[in-house]
Amino acid sequence: MKILKFGGTSVGSPERMKKLLDIIRPAEEKQIVVLSAVAGTTNTLVEISQAFIAGDKRKAEALIKGLRAKYDEFVDELFLSAEGKENGRELISYHFDFIQSFANELFTPIEEKIILAQGELLSTTLYHFYLTEIGVRSKLLPALDFMKIDEDNEPVIPYISDHLEVILGGLTDHNLFITQGYICRNAFGEIDNLRRGGSDYTASLIGAAIHAKEVQVWTDIDGMHNNDPRIVKGTYPIAHLTFDEAAELAYFGAKILHPQSVFPAQKYNIPVRLLNTMEPKAPGTLISKDGAIKGEVRSIAAKDGITAIRIHSSRMLLAFGFLRKVFEVFERYKTPIDMITTSEVAVSLTVDDTRFLSDIERELKDFGSVEIDVNQTIVCVVGDFSINTHGYASRVLDAVKHIPIRMISYGGSDFNISLLIDAENKVEVLRSLHNRLF
Ligand code: ADP
Ligand code: ASP
Ligand code: MG
Repeated sequence: MKILKFGGTSVGSPERMKKLLDIIRPAEEKQIVVLSAVAGTTNTLVEISQAFIAGDKRKAEALIKGLRAKYDEFVDELFLSAEGKENGRELISYHFDFIQSFANELFTPIEEKIILAQGELLSTTLYHFYLTEIGVRSKLLPALDFMKIDEDNEPVIPYISDHLEVILGGLTDHNLFITQGYICRNAFGEIDNLRRGGSDYTASLIGAAIHAKEVQVWTDIDGMHNNDPRIVKGTYPIAHLTFDEAAELAYFGAKILHPQSVFPAQKYNIPVRLLNTMEPKAPGTLISKDGAIKGEVRSIAAKDGITAIRIHSSRMLLAFGFLRKVFEVFERYKTPIDMITTSEVAVSLTVDDTRFLSDIERELKDFGSVEIDVNQTIVCVVGDFSINTHGYASRVLDAVKHIPIRMISYGGSDFNISLLIDAENKVEVLRSLHNRLF
């Protein structure tokens, strides 16, 4: 079984949706197709929810009307027969009347997540209806029946595995399955999601849960590039990355992959391919266990919205157990730490989740003085930085010698150097590193 995930632009128009069959080729082998919402939909659903939260029913209604008009057009172009168009219109009415009905409800994060789920529910059902219309047999697998996260928002792979096994076990005469990316149920059984860009994560979790042969992530670019193509000119795709390298790049901002999506595939050793829907013959990027290249810098990524915290304490001097106490504060507030550097009298670390920052700051003040810098960016350079390869670290630092650096993290692994800089210097740092390293 293969898992094929198609992102928002890959299902972004009726024409594109129709072209997916060139890639899926249903007769060839069993496949689970994971679809994102049609491009732009989730953003608009977020805006609709914000309008409901703000109590601005008029704005919500206007946004709903605008989005619905787009879907009416979509349905008109996608289906050929009068019956197909009618079924499509009924589906649109059902979902949009449902979204509109929240105008009369108490609106909490629970309702927001239900609204955000409508995009993937729409795209998958539309595609399933389309396949049915043209006589291609497919089965819709409701992700809400098997995709599960726990109290810490972590996916529960054994649950996903057990449920998928039962579901698929009852459908052995089917070859082509369609399911929703991004959406799931949480520990309380409520509708939830795997955070923005989460359809990649869905694909990787399904791949891990059923021990698939391969996970293919089809998007609008020909693989993982060696720098952010939205910012730097002249980037190129990387043929092969290890799981570790890809995980590092995804976690530190390469938008092509959801930050956590490499881990399930890595744990169960399922190869992941990043491929371009617009150029299906291009080789893309293969992510697998092997493939590290000695003595090379592979790629650069950047993660915005970082907050740096420095705790300065004379008590750190020669004290054991100090770092444990600091980490326990972050653990109590379920706040992950990204980067860390220490000196004899101070420790600096970074977080991107600032929901509990003031509580964390208050508790850290028990240990010493605390300084906080917002609007920071982590730039992550991935490549061979192993102990036997010299010269690369100095080339990285040389490329940014004209920029103030807040933190440097080196030696944590063999394949990464991370720099913390002010967000306003990001573009210059990415370009300068690109010019000097490739
Ligand atoms: P999808 O909707 O298919 O999930 P995304 O927009 O989430 O697609 O991801 C693809 C986009 O990621 C590309 O269009 C590109 O602009 C951006 N991107 C950022 N960094 C990289 C990188 N290092 N390599 C490739 N694409 C990247
Ligand atoms: N539709 C969701 C989003 O826009 C999930 C995804 O596209 O992967 O974030
Ligand atoms: Mg994406």
